[in-house]
Amino acid sequence: MILEVDNIHTYYGESHALQGVSLTLQEGETVCLLGRNGAGKSTTLRSIVGLTPPRSGRVVFRGKDIAGQPAYKIARQGVGLVPEDRRIFPGLSVRENLEVARYQRPGEAPSWSIERIFDEYPMLAELADQDGATLSGGQQQMLAVARSLMSEPRLLLLDEPNEGLAPVIVKQIGALIDALSATTTILFTDQSVHFALKHARRAYILEKGMIVHEASSQELLADTDTQQRYLSV
Ligand code: ATP
Repeated sequence: MILEVDNIHTYYGESHALQGVSLTLQEGETVCLLGRNGAGKSTTLRSIVGLTPPRSGRVVFRGKDIAGQPAYKIARQGVGLVPEDRRIFPGLSVRENLEVARYQRPGEAPSWSIERIFDEYPMLAELADQDGATLSGGQQQMLAVARSLMSEPRLLLLDEPNEGLAPVIVKQIGALIDALSATTTILFTDQSVHFALKHARRAYILEKGMIVHEASSQELLADTDTQQRYLSV
């Protein structure tokens, strides 16, 4: 198992956002975390990476409890987050956005480089010298994912990668997730079932800060009752 989130409780001030969330990921799996607006999807990802540390519970990554560690230390151990708002650095070119994210774990050969990113995503190579802030939403999403690859993630967390993107771009993001799935463990969030189940093998559903359902994509696709109860369909 690469990740075990065990009964985490996360607060914003007095507000009890996650009320005992547990989930697991096997190495190499692609899993989706589903739920409506405000269900706690972002907070779950932020709790895993240490941006909103859980007040109790465990986050076990590769056998070690990382809950409570500072976010930069968690990132260096190989947990990458692509946040919902993408956070492309304005005033930096596409190439510079990638360069600043470069991190090499001591004693390990890097698997990603700018050259490899440009080889695999020629669209980014074409935009290499352009200010990141001038990119379209879909281009920014590709750049945000590519940027997180530069820090050599062993586990990639994608927060609503399709948010606000046109259907044709959503297809490209789906293809990107499929391609990365071959080599990386991925947990991504989404509000609707169709994209999620096409690209993930398994899904958890969050509602009001609790996991209310877990199923394989095939099961959930057939289960319209559960979809209607907990998801935007
Ligand atoms: P969305 O699709 O809107 O991002 P989500 O499922 O990711 O939804 P979260 O953003 O994790 O949900 O929010 C979970 C709960 O925590 C919601 O009730 C939300 O209002 C609350 N919340 C989120 N961020 C904050 C914050 N910075 N301060 C206070 N409450 C917050």
